[in-house]
Amino acid sequence: MSEAVIRVEGLAKDYDTPAGPFPALKDVSLDVAPGEFVAIMGPSGSGKSTFMNILGCLDRPSRGRYLLAGRDVAKLDKDETAALRNRTIGFVFQGFNLLPRMSLADNVALPLVYSAIGHEERLARAGAMLEKVGLGGYAGSLPSRISGGQQQRVAIARALVNDPRLILADEPTGNLDSHTSEEIMGVFRALNDEGITVVLITHENDIAQHARRLVRFLDGRIVEDRPTLQPAHSPPTLPSAASGRHPLPREGGRGEGPPC
Ligand code: ADP
Repeated sequence: MSEAVIRVEGLAKDYDTPAGPFPALKDVSLDVAPGEFVAIMGPSGSGKSTFMNILGCLDRPSRGRYLLAGRDVAKLDKDETAALRNRTIGFVFQGFNLLPRMSLADNVALPLVYSAIGHEERLARAGAMLEKVGLGGYAGSLPSRISGGQQQRVAIARALVNDPRLILADEPTGNLDSHTSEEIMGVFRALNDEGITVVLITHENDIAQHARRLVRFLDGRIVEDRPTLQPAHSPPTLPSAASGRHPLPREGGRGEGPPC
């Protein structure tokens, strides 16, 4: 079997509190293989965000090992960690986190700013990614002129612009109505069908059922790890992530404004 994208062994995280160390994660072990689609569930306070922050190299564990794409993150310095994170992981958040005064193309191109790629090439790649998520005509629009579902598509395009192997999504449908949520999950499924590994946090059972594997946290431990009832995904209908010529499934069009 090919090397795990994520390998976590005996992971623990203690937070310092006035009352002493608080164990937010306790002896967590998990492997995620290339191409998996994992939903992380669990009640508030169960350690999901702490775990995702460690997976995203945004925080370090107190004990245990974390290998991202085969690299032991603890052995990397700050710059090496940032470089590994940038080329391996695309992040998608609940609140979209688009910069309001920047065009959609500039928002999508943002992760490339620190690369050696020139401005024109950055915008060309951003345009291709917008095309891929079904927003090809919107490159010059501002985030305020499009719907929440469209904004999340832009955020997904931004997550894809570095051609990551892994997408980490934290409650990506938390701000969306159920119809739009289904559409956004269709985008994640299509990306997963292309071979991108997806790990997402959700508290909604319906959303988790789009994944192929469900991992449930409780009190800082994994208490359940099983396949979902999800049948095999539909065969990939998309070309490689790099070409961006064919868009992912389009929105139903409810509440969508015209491009500006
Ligand atoms: P979830 O994402 O499942 O809601 P979290 O990972 O945010 O859970 O939190 C797990 C536990 O760790 C909670 O009890 C929370 O109060 C505690 N916690 C999270 N961050 C901190 C922090 N910076 N300092 C102290 N305790 C924290």
